[in-house]
Amino acid sequence: MTEITFSSEITVKLIDHMGGDDRVIQAAQVSAKGENNPDTVPPRLINALLKQKHGSTFEHSYFTFYVKAPIFVFREWMRHRMSSFNEMSGRYTELPGEFYIPAEDRKLFNQGTKMKPDFVAAPQDVINEVNSSVEYISHAAWNEYQRLLKLEVATEVARIVLPLNIYSQMYWTVSARSLMNFLSLRGSQEGAALISHPQREIQIGAEHIDAIFSEIMPLTHESFVTNGRVAP
Ligand SMILES: Cc1cc2nc3c(=O)[nH]c(=O)nc-3n(C[C@H](O)[C@H](O)[C@H](O)COP(=O)(O)OP(=O)(O)OC[C@H]3O[C@@H](n4cnc5c(N)ncnc54)[C@H](O)[C@@H]3O)c2cc1C
Repeated sequence: MTEITFSSEITVKLIDHMGGDDRVIQAAQVSAKGENNPDTVPPRLINALLKQKHGSTFEHSYFTFYVKAPIFVFREWMRHRMSSFNEMSGRYTELPGEFYIPAEDRKLFNQGTKMKPDFVAAPQDVINEVNSSVEYISHAAWNEYQRLLKLEVATEVARIVLPLNIYSQMYWTVSARSLMNFLSLRGSQEGAALISHPQREIQIGAEHIDAIFSEIMPLTHESFVTNGRVAP
């Protein structure tokens, strides 16, 4: 049977970006001053635009990311409709045999409620049970997938035996405004006005996105953080 691999990684790579902090200012000033090209970008103006929810000025700066994550994370990620997605096709390709397994430090027990979860570490014997369950079902599903493919069943049908922890890949293109909405809902940083309690795995993805956003648009990111991570 074909070998499979296990990983706990959520991969995010920046493919391309357009605009930036200066484009926010240009978009804001075009109505009053016409086309202009500011040499310096006033942080106070960006802060005011964000605070007063002049959200459209953040829609002229764009990011394209490559994301590799398990399908259960993509189910959540793709709820963010104000962005564009292209995902690896399980109809047109044989999916790679790579499966997600929780990292050792992934807290497994919820001692809170469903709406206000409070995750704590499980004892080692439970961690072992989870690992063996994930490994068992991933191997079994993969073997069945391969068996169906050998019978020349079409990939689009054979894939239905695969579990939610198989990895997928996508390109995600998003404006800075929609990106901040994503971060406000899927991040969980200190100082955030909204505590949304995202699933840990998408939160890891949001942390990667946040780091790239802060590099490419430092002034907007700083204002976003200062204003409690509320999207404009
Ligand atoms: C912790 C958490 C738990 C969740 N649990 C569930 C769940 O159990 N079940 C479930 O189905 N979803 C769930 N979601 C998904 C959630 O309901 C949103 O679909 C998702 O977070 C995307 O947010 P959004 O609509 O703001 O983003 P986008 O779709 O990117 O939209 C951005 C903004 O555009 C506007 N907009 C977009 N579409 C419309 C529209 N049709 N009409 C009016 N305005 C629009 C809104 O202002 C919206 O905020 C959960 C999300 C989180 C963060």
